[in-house]
Amino acid sequence: MPRLVMKFGGTSVANLDRIKRVAKRIGVEVARGYEVIVIVSAMSGKTNELVGWVQETSPLFDAREFDAIVSSGENVTAGLMALTLQEMDIPARSWQGWQVPVQTTSAHSSARIEAIPTDNLDAKFAEGMKVAVVAGFQGVSDEGRITTLGRGGSDTTAVAFAAAFDAERCDIYTDVDGVYTTDPRITDKARKLDRIAFEEMLELASLGAKVLQTRSVELAMRYKVKLRVLSSFDEQTDTSGTLVCDEEDIMESNVVAGVAYSRDEAKMTLLAVADRPGIAAAIFGPLSEAGVNVDMIIQNISEEGRTDMTFSLPTDQVLRATEAVDALKTSGNVNFEKLETDAEVAKVSVVGIGMRSHAGVASKMFAALSAEGVNIKVISTSEIKISVLVDRKYMELAVQALHDAFELEKEG
Ligand code: ADP
Ligand code: ASP
Ligand code: MG
Repeated sequence: MPRLVMKFGGTSVANLDRIKRVAKRIGVEVARGYEVIVIVSAMSGKTNELVGWVQETSPLFDAREFDAIVSSGENVTAGLMALTLQEMDIPARSWQGWQVPVQTTSAHSSARIEAIPTDNLDAKFAEGMKVAVVAGFQGVSDEGRITTLGRGGSDTTAVAFAAAFDAERCDIYTDVDGVYTTDPRITDKARKLDRIAFEEMLELASLGAKVLQTRSVELAMRYKVKLRVLSSFDEQTDTSGTLVCDEEDIMESNVVAGVAYSRDEAKMTLLAVADRPGIAAAIFGPLSEAGVNVDMIIQNISEEGRTDMTFSLPTDQVLRATEAVDALKTSGNVNFEKLETDAEVAKVSVVGIGMRSHAGVASKMFAALSAEGVNIKVISTSEIKISVLVDRKYMELAVQALHDAFELEKEG
């Protein structure tokens, strides 16, 4: 029988009524003859609540217990979904990650899926089970401890199951009806895309568009999973939503496909660093060891053997980074005058594979921001994206200005 993976995010399973509604949608696919693997998130708000409880109990928490606690929201939804389906006379059962088992690395709270053996689910499908409801976001490490895949990780669970079970498609049901040119919450001019290329989706996701977890897009690209994003609230047709697909399968597109943003960024500058060979390694090595994820880096030209070194990082890592930088100074390994921190910045990026062959995207971007009086603090570019750091209070304005400048409300 053909297999289908259907994933439902937090808002789609936020209460018992929504679970019922979604169960009906699953019933439609079962009636069409599919064996369905359903991946569920925790009810909306639940994961945040669990994270809060951990932090309140133990600020420097044990990462293994963090995962044991934070993964539990998905267990509740999986069980409730299986029960709801059974009430509709659809043979279903729930599976927690370890029961499948979803084997992961032991990098707690950012674990990667290594393997999903299919035997256990296959045996149950062979016995007549129609729906396997699997708790998303979680797995088990070699040490037998519960792991989680990072925020938004249920998307990755879904794509990994679609690959492992050779599903016809992986449908990601969420609270918007597809992937838009930018977050529809920021501008109502955002336009839904019928199709988006894997590479563009990958960039948008990694630059902050949380509609899909970055790793899920990577997996879909690698294992050629047919990935669709659609709304769990609307009636669906075969062409609903957005298909994430190969570049070759898209007929026409804009030079810029979309605008992404990441709100919680910070910028740190080491002023007047003694400029000598090995200085970057001496700074960024210890930062990385302290678990700081440095994103953009700029080093100014040197004057009299001194330079300024600026880097960006997630806001919640500022404390850790400050401690690491202070330790550098105390140890005498890095000589600098002062550390300046700006924890009120955001990153705004434009993404499009058309940039490979079109010049002028950067200048248009900078002109649009300048016309709105938005100051650019740091710039970084790659083949298909340009990112800038701006004051967080201008983030929405910047996204809207760029969406207008590249005329993303119009089809390319
Ligand atoms: P779920 O709980 O279903 O996993 P998420 O909240 O993780 O849902 O992701 C969906 C949200 O992603 C949307 O509500 C929307 O605000 C946000 N989003 C950000 N960028 C985009 C985009 N380009 N297209 C669609 N949604 C986006
Ligand atoms: N519940 C987890 C989160 O909120 C995983 C997910 O929903 O994808 O991040
Ligand atoms: Mg999500």
